[in-house]
Amino acid sequence: MRDPNNRQPVRRVVICGGGTAGWMAAAGISKVLGKLLDIKLIESEEIGTVGVGEATIPTLMNFHNVLEINEQEFMAETQATFKLGISFESWRNVKQDYIHSFGITGTDHWTAGFQHFWHKGVERGVASDYGDYCLELKASMENRFAHLPNNGMNYAYHLDASRYAKYLRRLSEPRGVQRIEGKIVSYAKHPNGDVRSVTLASGQEIEGDLFIDCTGFRALLIGEAMQEDVEDWSQWLFCDRAIAVQTTSVGDAVPLTRSMAHQAGWQWRIPLQHRVGNGIVYSSRYLDDDAARKQLLANVEGKTLIEPRVIKFQPCQRRNTWKGNVVAIGLSSGFLEPIESTSIHLIQRSVIRLMQSFPSDGIQQADIDEYNAQCNREIDHIRDFIILHYHVNNRTDSQFWIDAREMSIPDSLKHRIDLFKETGRVFRIPNELFAENSWIQVMLGQGIMPKSHHQTADLMGDEELKAFLGSIKGRIDRTVVQLPTHQAYVERYCGRP
Ligand code: FAD
Repeated sequence: MRDPNNRQPVRRVVICGGGTAGWMAAAGISKVLGKLLDIKLIESEEIGTVGVGEATIPTLMNFHNVLEINEQEFMAETQATFKLGISFESWRNVKQDYIHSFGITGTDHWTAGFQHFWHKGVERGVASDYGDYCLELKASMENRFAHLPNNGMNYAYHLDASRYAKYLRRLSEPRGVQRIEGKIVSYAKHPNGDVRSVTLASGQEIEGDLFIDCTGFRALLIGEAMQEDVEDWSQWLFCDRAIAVQTTSVGDAVPLTRSMAHQAGWQWRIPLQHRVGNGIVYSSRYLDDDAARKQLLANVEGKTLIEPRVIKFQPCQRRNTWKGNVVAIGLSSGFLEPIESTSIHLIQRSVIRLMQSFPSDGIQQADIDEYNAQCNREIDHIRDFIILHYHVNNRTDSQFWIDAREMSIPDSLKHRIDLFKETGRVFRIPNELFAENSWIQVMLGQGIMPKSHHQTADLMGDEELKAFLGSIKGRIDRTVVQLPTHQAYVERYCGRP
């Protein structure tokens, strides 16, 4: 517990690490509080960055709004493409695919969600696929995209992670962030346990009031200096390795992240303007590195541009990502595999949260406790959502999928699945990332069909229900057909690569 009378103002912020997390933190803090602070960022070219993390979700837009980023400039600089959702291939069962898209499906209704009307429609034989009632999903299937008025199309980006860090650096330095090249080799502490300074291999010592640990999986300050342990989640999430490789583009970029399940995990494909990012995620208990590498390379298109490399990870979270005067952001805070592209989202949430609670007049334990409680609530919901993808499956072709189906799951997730199965109901918990439509798309996609629906849907007659569903589908079909192809739109919007 901190001394409540110690009100040492926070003026010197030291960001350790310059990957996506470090530069997002630098860009955010310098934009909002830059004039009041002395901000230093230390990164080591010799160590480099993890070099993956290229699929995002629409919440990134909020962060870009804070930074006043010009979208066309950002897309050109990071060779980004648009993303409308994720295509989950063979997750439910081999060769059974579905899309988890952004946006909403159908319309809102204050008593019952659209899924209840759709369910009634299926029962009466007047409804088609659930996805037919979602604009973003249909556009992604047709490989089409355009900005629509009134934010009519919900989207995110695929981006080149290393270009993104460089782009954010260019925004941050003019706002006063001082970048220091060098490798941190040691740290010194105050008697109360706070970090006083870090020392580089060159001998330079850098003091600070607040340290932001963005050193990636190394977790130099939060793990080593502050000895904050992780909560391990590998009983639910078996994957602990990834191999990433970049390839040349073959054909048009699609506005979808592809997530292709295999016998012991899954493989991603992320199309950018100038290349494609690929990677295989797997459990070392079920698949060895050589077999995974072969499997990855057998399932990529185009020429490989880099040597594939193995990345080891542990599915986990630190319960205190803020401890003393150290705040861990990015991979140093924990890691959930990128099935739903949530890591960059969590980085921007942490940066925004830290700015909201910024301890200008001194670090208070109450601020720390609130920050950590908010982070924990947020991550627990995401963890459940990710486990759902593995647990609800019909695959019988490998022990990995059988074990995932048979494992016991967190009570919070079990409750959601049971509720949906029995009643078709889903409720979003306040401040949780994934809204009802995401849970519904994934639960239906993984093969859960509710046993019943809300009675309000029964009040509609056959013709009324048919007309209601038909009008939504018709409006979407008419919109999609008028959209340009995603590739043509990106070329026009960003200039041909
Ligand atoms: P890093 O990129 O590893 O950066 C660490 C920084 O710390 C580097 O600059 C390094 O030089 C520096 N550093 C380390 N030690 C020292 C030292 N001693 N001295 C000085 N500097 C030091 N997220 C998504 O949102 N979408 C995705 O699609 C996605 N895919 C992923 C796929 C895989 C396989 C993995 C592992 C992660 C993925 N992520 C994804 C997560 C995403 O990659 C990270 O959240 C993001 O890149 C942030 O990483 P980071 O900045 O925390 O760490």
